[in-house]
Amino acid sequence: MRRTPSRQQSHGEAGIDRLSSVSGVVDSRACRYSFNVSTIKTLKLRIKDKHTSALRSMAREVNTVWNFCNETSARAVRERGKFLSGFDLQKLTDGFSKCDGVQIGSATTQQVCEEYATRRRQFKRAQLNWRVSNPRSSKYSLGWIPFKARAARYKAGQVHFAGLKLSLWDSYGMSLYELRAGSISEDSRGRWYLNVQVKVPELVGPRLQPTSSVGIDLGLKTCATASNGQKIEGRFYRALENKLGIAQRARRKQRVRAIHARIANQRKDLLHKFSTEIVRQHAAIFVGDVAGAKLVKTKMAKSTLDAGWSMLRTMLEYKSREAGIVFEEVSEANTTQTCSCCGALPHSSPKGRAGLGIREWTCSVCGSVHDRDVNAARNILALGHERLAGGIPAL
Ligand SMILES: [Zn+2]
Repeated sequence: MRRTPSRQQSHGEAGIDRLSSVSGVVDSRACRYSFNVSTIKTLKLRIKDKHTSALRSMAREVNTVWNFCNETSARAVRERGKFLSGFDLQKLTDGFSKCDGVQIGSATTQQVCEEYATRRRQFKRAQLNWRVSNPRSSKYSLGWIPFKARAARYKAGQVHFAGLKLSLWDSYGMSLYELRAGSISEDSRGRWYLNVQVKVPELVGPRLQPTSSVGIDLGLKTCATASNGQKIEGRFYRALENKLGIAQRARRKQRVRAIHARIANQRKDLLHKFSTEIVRQHAAIFVGDVAGAKLVKTKMAKSTLDAGWSMLRTMLEYKSREAGIVFEEVSEANTTQTCSCCGALPHSSPKGRAGLGIREWTCSVCGSVHDRDVNAARNILALGHERLAGGIPAL
């Protein structure tokens, strides 16, 4: 199983950073709409394949540290009833980076210890899965090498890290950024990537042109529907399902992985286009607070994961912040059932899981015909307006 730094965690760090770099703002509610704010973004760059074997051997060292932590910490629980902290583990692994032939530095070793402790707390277990270095094993852990801020440096087209000069496809213009913490990771196709956090200044203030606002309903059948009728279809997986089935039956592992990667890429691309478009056209964006984790647990798991709307939500949020426009989440309770024309909660509206199949309905109170998702998006927009009128002083 693959373990990478949690998104939660990086959000937290970004949050702290954002606050510390805000100047002249007292009310934290107002931060989002004011000036001199910079934001943290994670860039992902493909590392050239010639570094594969060097990176593999580094990842093996990371695994050694991880497994040492796993063993030591489990023993401490068993024998002494003590949960070792990240700091405890760091003391115990001190010196590993100085062993003969070890390439990862002490900062990476420490980072692995911290990550281990975080994960153990998160999963509430005395022991975690071992990291497996043998690529032929079915339990192989995809390569992962974390690093701290300033451990990777950009110099003349290459990234210098732990004695390696990594060549990569620089799709962002790395020389413009100061590299912070991040990781090097491998995907299921054996390609390596540099994931690194950078600080990006936000645009100053709201832009001039758009004044309209939009509500967005995140759903299952369609990934997202805007109150103006724009839609994004969520079933990326379904389109390539046949090909995937054929490849799986033929046991063509490489092909299966390639198709999975293609699905993921297509999804991300589509979500990027949609979110950029929405942010460009509007001055305020409201989305419903779908409880993703809850839905995933039900039978609807496949289409929930498939739809990728949590990714879309994240994109909308950070793009809005960069563009200096309003982004708010509103409670989506009853937004599907309420009629957006008359505000009534008619008995003819779609309800519960049984109502999921109902795409179109007529309000029995006022007689308007609704597209299920557009109606929900309109209600979300209305809720957002109430919220704005209720209390954001900065507007
Ligand atoms: Zn009505």
